[in-house]
Amino acid sequence: MNAECTFEEYQKGLAEDKLLGVLCADCNAVTVPPQAVCCKCGSQKLSAKELGKTATLKSYTVIRIAPDGMNPPYIVALAETDDGPWVMGNLVGLDPEKADIELIGKKISISSQEVKGDIYAIGDIRALTFNLQ
Ligand SMILES: [Zn+2]
Repeated sequence: MNAECTFEEYQKGLAEDKLLGVLCADCNAVTVPPQAVCCKCGSQKLSAKELGKTATLKSYTVIRIAPDGMNPPYIVALAETDDGPWVMGNLVGLDPEKADIELIGKKISISSQEVKGDIYAIGDIRALTFNLQ
């Protein structure tokens, strides 16, 4: 495995307000969060790449029945970063009951927050959060 950016380094980057991925030397795709192989072509020729933290909201759902430890309702969203890759995170700073179709296409900024681990997790981790710009 080419460990140009490990999960631990990705998590450390989030704690320092950086969004890290890996850039493929074969096809130029960026995989985020970093993985051992390129998300597009499977190559292992990867190097760490810091992405910008702005994106466009593409889809979302309001979670009303949540796993243990989570506090519904909350919004889980997909966004296309200005650098290309799509990322998933929680849209925060907005009442989930007021979420509507007008959110699609809005510009967001990407940050992160600590999420307490549950019985399925490796422990507490940082997860992406989105704020409307
Ligand atoms: Zn590739």
